[in-house]
Amino acid sequence: MAKSDMNSARKLLAANWKMNLDLQGARVLATEVVHTLEQELRTPLPIVLAPAFPLLQAVHHLTKDHARFGLAAQDLSSHAKGAYTGEVAGTMLHSVGCRYVIIGHSERRQYYKETEALLALKIEQARLSGLTPIFCLGETLENREAGAQKDVVTAQLKAVMPALADIPGQIILAYEPVWAIGTGRTASPEQAQEMHALLRGLLNKALGSERAENTPLLYGGSLNATNAAPLFAQPDVDGGLVGGASLKAREFAHIALALANA
Ligand code: PEP
Repeated sequence: MAKSDMNSARKLLAANWKMNLDLQGARVLATEVVHTLEQELRTPLPIVLAPAFPLLQAVHHLTKDHARFGLAAQDLSSHAKGAYTGEVAGTMLHSVGCRYVIIGHSERRQYYKETEALLALKIEQARLSGLTPIFCLGETLENREAGAQKDVVTAQLKAVMPALADIPGQIILAYEPVWAIGTGRTASPEQAQEMHALLRGLLNKALGSERAENTPLLYGGSLNATNAAPLFAQPDVDGGLVGGASLKAREFAHIALALANA
């Protein structure tokens, strides 16, 4: 059964290219993705591409005339401007065409020790820069084996809820169980639905039913052309954040078609 009109309005697919591709590679992939999806998608499904910082402008140039496409950065500074060598401010991202930013990806939490306090500051900078946050959260394998996944994800969301509440427009959440990212293991549709329903309920309590019902909840973690459809069939799985499979235009298109048809 296809999703209701209300659920369909929340559909969105995002591609996290991570630290892959050079300028030429990004141009080739963006061109292929735009061409394939514009030919094959029959609905205005929003597609957000998140290349690395130096590739943003080139990808913006190739996507800006196609309304369904949006541009995301993979991170932003927790500061507005100034002497922070190596950092990239939200206003800079906005000025090169970004309208979204991924915040709290598990790789940043794990490798760069990003804390919840820091993530709240980053969400604030997204707000001040006019960027829609794609806030990532999810439990580790250890958490899940201990049966603590709901407590962990609840704590992750509650820690940044005041910052999310201040965002005037759309927010997006991406449930990404750490044990499924880049591992080839995927949450079952039932596991994903259970966690997404939890997130929707928490949003409902904190931000009210209208915002909760309008917030896209993406699933991420080894999504591919084969496993996407049953996950997207779940009532609270509104789309995906795709890593590895987003680097292959054909496979990414299959995932997009699965979402469009869900
Ligand atoms: C991700 O990094 O957000 C992700 C979901 O990666 P992958 O699809 O490769 O598991």
